[in-house]
Amino acid sequence: MGLKRDKSGKLHIESPLMGESLMDKGLLAKTGIGPVFRIMPNLIVVKIGGQSIIDRGKNALIPILEELVEARKQNDILITTGGGTRARHVYAIATELGMPAGVLSSLASSISEQNALMVAMVLGPSGGIKIGHDDLTKLSHYLRLGCLPVTHAMPPYGLFEIPPELGRIPPHRTDAGVFLLSEVLGARKCILIKDEHGLYSTDPKKDEKAKFIGSKIEVNELISLNLNDLPVERSMLQCLKNSCNMHEFSIVNGLVRGNITRAIAGEEVGTTIYKTSG
Ligand code: ADP
Ligand code: MG
Repeated sequence: MGLKRDKSGKLHIESPLMGESLMDKGLLAKTGIGPVFRIMPNLIVVKIGGQSIIDRGKNALIPILEELVEARKQNDILITTGGGTRARHVYAIATELGMPAGVLSSLASSISEQNALMVAMVLGPSGGIKIGHDDLTKLSHYLRLGCLPVTHAMPPYGLFEIPPELGRIPPHRTDAGVFLLSEVLGARKCILIKDEHGLYSTDPKKDEKAKFIGSKIEVNELISLNLNDLPVERSMLQCLKNSCNMHEFSIVNGLVRGNITRAIAGEEVGTTIYKTSG
């Protein structure tokens, strides 16, 4: 990029994207050359499930927070929160009223934020601080001060949420949100804390014959299995396929004491969904 003087003597900034529609496939491919800058390469981003963990209350949540407080001594950790049952309740009411996905997304965001507020307050004695999405640009400073930041995992699509292929539930919820956040920050790990051992052939709560799929599965292989139900949003799988920094995420059963600590330490716990290319 540089300055160029035209025949009339006017100065112009030369830019490789000037005059482009930004739709040309060859040009778009060229913009992907070179590594993407990792803003926080040591960061561990966790999501505490709304329905799977927080809605179970104190007995489920406190031991998980204790593990995270301990892990924070050796690691930079960002805690994010899901919405859970209250989000499902508002989805049901709003759907009945004919509300579009964008309205449902806005409604659920504030519920995921309520959970972030509660978790941050409980973590107060250990440096817990609730931050909004606008504060994420200050994350490295909060961590340097010894804080344990907590934010809501609902991505800020809000009214602009993309209409889903099927039905009206917002396709980008808190699983996709925590992954997208990990991706933009170039985090070391993205861990989803839930209440099952990992990925099964069907929902183990509904089918006692559900088979554990394994400790690892490649994302395209998972998509081709075309499972009827999943413990994470389908949009999250697409995000993983397109991501530059993040090549995997893990689903861990936080109800088993020690699992989170082991997952943060890099041990195989639960199911890791990874990609081989890109
Ligand atoms: P969270 O509150 O963490 O977002 P969800 O309740 O939305 O969690 O999703 C996790 C749940 O999905 C699991 O607790 C499990 O009951 C259910 N589930 C559905 N399909 C599967 C599957 N194929 N493998 C594992 N769990 C599944
Ligand atoms: Mg969920």
